[in-house]
This record gives sequence, structure tokens and C-alpha cells, in this order.
Amino acid sequence: MDFNQVYQDLVNLNVGQVIKDEPMYKHTTLRVGGPCAIFINVNTQDGLIAALKYVNKHHLKSMVIGKGSNLLFSDGLYQGVIICLAEGFNYTHYNGCTVTAGAGVSMIKLAYQAANAGLSGFEFMSGIPGTIGGGVYMNAGAYKYDMASVVKSVKILNEKYQTVTLTNNQMEFGYRTSILQRNPRWVVLEVVFELSPSDPKFINEVIDKRKEKRMTTQPWNKPSAGSIFQNPSMAPAWKLIEDCDLRGREIGGAQVSLKHCNFIVNNGYASAKDIYDLIELVKEEVKKQHDIELHQEVKYVNWE
Ligand SMILES: Cc1cc2nc3c(=O)[nH]c(=O)nc-3n(C[C@H](O)[C@H](O)[C@H](O)COP(=O)(O)OP(=O)(O)OC[C@H]3O[C@@H](n4cnc5c(N)ncnc54)[C@H](O)[C@@H]3O)c2cc1C
Repeated sequence: MDFNQVYQDLVNLNVGQVIKDEPMYKHTTLRVGGPCAIFINVNTQDGLIAALKYVNKHHLKSMVIGKGSNLLFSDGLYQGVIICLAEGFNYTHYNGCTVTAGAGVSMIKLAYQAANAGLSGFEFMSGIPGTIGGGVYMNAGAYKYDMASVVKSVKILNEKYQTVTLTNNQMEFGYRTSILQRNPRWVVLEVVFELSPSDPKFINEVIDKRKEKRMTTQPWNKPSAGSIFQNPSMAPAWKLIEDCDLRGREIGGAQVSLKHCNFIVNNGYASAKDIYDLIELVKEEVKKQHDIELHQEVKYVNWE
């Protein structure tokens, strides 16, 4: 398919802001990744539907992303369309203890907003730099809480372009997983949460304490994707990696963080391939030395 034609068609369809050859390092927290042929910032549900219908009609590769905080794009050209839910999906409504948020809302911002409104439940997400859409897809979590603890229902656009609302139970949440991972064509549009009333001062104190802990135990000053591996049931991933003597191991500009072994950081000059190779090396070593298979939390995109 001629991407100049795709670009022109999508502009004519008025799907949102359409960009050609957009570097994906600008849209991922690892700050690596080659260009994608077409990048769209969609602002409305109609724009999203028009873009998806076009992409599917022409059998184009596509993906909806949030803040790219859990993605490792390859260095090569992504020959397809990346869709980002932009400002039009960045809204919140408060009604008592019920909070409704668009899929594009930042989890960190929402945690602080709810805290100041005297609503408790989002403290766990105050250090997770993704969107509500990406958070629900991943069932993001920390400190024994996750999206499943607070989600009441999720409004989704399904593969037939219909809007359906799934309850918490229907979302099939599990450790860093949800029904969305088994239905890659579904898009989260909006999420309704149920929180509990509490003193804003108390909630902010909890958030501040956790922030301080993250700052001292995680490499926040370098690009990363958070924890690279899920924790196996027998031991935390960082411990298995540490026991393999991999703390600080480097490939090119990628490094197993000196501060937290389950983080791989970009020292500023890493290629996506450096990071990929380091992830695979860690997996191999942990398998060899502990006979445990680590499963990466970060999602590989465009490596096939
Ligand atoms: C410094 C740092 C700390 C982190 N700490 C944590 C932590 O404590 N706990 C934790 O769980 N994670 C953590 N993460 C990882 C990451 O922030 C989460 O996985 C987050 O949920 C990803 O959200 P995102 O918007 O960036 O999604 P992206 O990375 O953009 O996408 C992730 C997946 O979600 C899908 N997706 C995104 N939006 C939608 C949508 N609207 N509809 C359907 N699918 C969608 C994408 O297609 C993709 O498959 C951390 C990351 C960093 C960089």
C-alpha cells in the first residue's frame, strides 16, 4: 500500500491529526523506536471509528497506544498506522465516589486529582506513567492494588465498531492482564471507577511516601519501561536477575539498572536492538541459572 495515499485518504476522512513517518522514540518512555508510516492523534470517537474502518478495509497493520510506557518498538519502519487517543479522550467527571475518565487520561494526574477531591483508591497509580486505557489493558498495579481493585465498568469499542460496556468481572482481570489482551481489536474509550471517601491530607501523605520510595529504589532519571519482567510466583524477578550477577550489565546503550535489577534503562544512546538483546540475555541467564522462565511485561512491537 502506498502510504502517501493512506495519508491523503486519512486526512480527507478527517480522523484527527495525521502525521507521516513519525519517530516512535518520541512516543515511548524507553525513548527508542524507528518511524511508523502513519501516526494519528484521534480526538473523537467518530474519528477513531473512521480511522479503524479505513485501516481494516485496507488490511493495514495498526495499533492503539497510550503513553508508550510499556512498549519496545524495533528500530525499523512500522509499516502501518499507530493511533493515539489524544486530548478528546482526556476528560474526567466526578459524581460522589464515582469517577469517569476518558482512556487518554494520565494515571498519575488522575491519582492526584482524586486525592485532592478526597477520594481514595488511586494511590497505587500515582507513580505509573501510563494512560487509563493502557492501565486497564495491562491491569497496571502497585502496592498490592491494581486497576481491578477500582474499576466498576469499561466502555469499549469492539471489532464491529459497537460501543459495549463490560463490568469489572467481565474484564477478566489477572496479574498484568485483562480480556483486552485476548481481543487486540478492542479499544478502551472510557472507564468508570468506584472510590472511597477519605481525607485529602491523608491520601496525599500516602502518595508522597510512595513517591519518595520510588525515587530512592527506581531509576527515575533515565528512560525505561518500568519493570521489564513479571514476578514469577517463586521469587521477585529483580532477585533472580541479581543472583545471576546481571546488575549493571550493558549492551550498547542499554543497561540493567544499577538501582533496580528489574529495570532496563536507556543510557541515552541505546538502540531498540540493544534493549531487546539485553532482555533476551537476562531471560537466557535466568533460565540457565535458576531454570525459571521470565515473562516480559513490556510488549515487543514490530520485531517479527
Ligand atoms: C518509570 C515507570 C514505572 C512504571 N511502574 C509501573 C508500575 O508500578 N505498575 C505497572 O503495572 N506498570 C508500571 N509501568 C508500566 C506502564 O506504565 C504500564 O504498563 C501502563 O499501564 C502502560 O500504559 P500506557 O498508556 O503507556 O500504554 P502503552 O504502553 O502505550 O500500551 C500498552 C498496551 O496497552 C494497549 N492500549 C493502550 N491504550 C489502549 C486503549 N485505549 N485501548 C486498548 N488498548 C490500549 C496498547 O495497544 C498496548 O498493547 C511503569 C513504567 C515506567 C516507565
